[in-house]
Amino acid sequence: MKILITAGPTREYLDDVRFLSNASSGRMGYSLAAAAISRGHQVLLVTGPAEQHPPAGCEVHRIETTDELRQRCLELFPGCDGVIATAAVCDYRPRERINGKMTKTGHPIVLELVETSDVLAELGSQKGHRWIVGFALESQDPRNNAMRKLRMKNCDCIVLNDTSAIGSLTNSVEVLSPDAETIAQFTGTKDDVADLLLGLIEASIAP
Ligand code: C5P
Repeated sequence: MKILITAGPTREYLDDVRFLSNASSGRMGYSLAAAAISRGHQVLLVTGPAEQHPPAGCEVHRIETTDELRQRCLELFPGCDGVIATAAVCDYRPRERINGKMTKTGHPIVLELVETSDVLAELGSQKGHRWIVGFALESQDPRNNAMRKLRMKNCDCIVLNDTSAIGSLTNSVEVLSPDAETIAQFTGTKDDVADLLLGLIEASIAP
């Protein structure tokens, strides 16, 4: 299969040198890319700035902002069989990006933030015959929040994990179906979990 994988954080710039982002290492997405390659799939990895090197053998598309992630995914998704979205997208961006570097005024400043676009929801709205695997990192009411996201983004399943996954080498995930059934639970290193998820996708998600 030809698989699109999104990974890492996105950045939203306040000015030319400062940005909002999050602590995503990109590790889960990179482990999935490596697992997919070793299972013989073609991988298009769209990645924000991550802590490690992308696995050999995948086509790497580097992005920084959510808008760049969106543009690249919209371009690549039609040619793929499915998408696994692990990117930790920065949900808000400053309404304005200031040219150059903001200087201190000696007074507090207020930043106005607006929502970024939901890339996976947009891919979900033009899914066609393709499959979609989403990720949800939840700290409150995890199952209900994950199910809301699965429906909103038209996913075939959603991989629920918690905040302990951030920056960790290991992960413990529950995979939920559109009927809110738990179809799998995996615990182990992110490499192990990635390989098990790819096995599940091959067996039950990809048509
Ligand atoms: O951030 P959230 O919990 O909504 O993420 C759920 C899923 O949607 C993840 O797979 C994430 O990669 C994707 N997502 C996205 N664009 C956003 C927010 C999330 O593609 N703006």
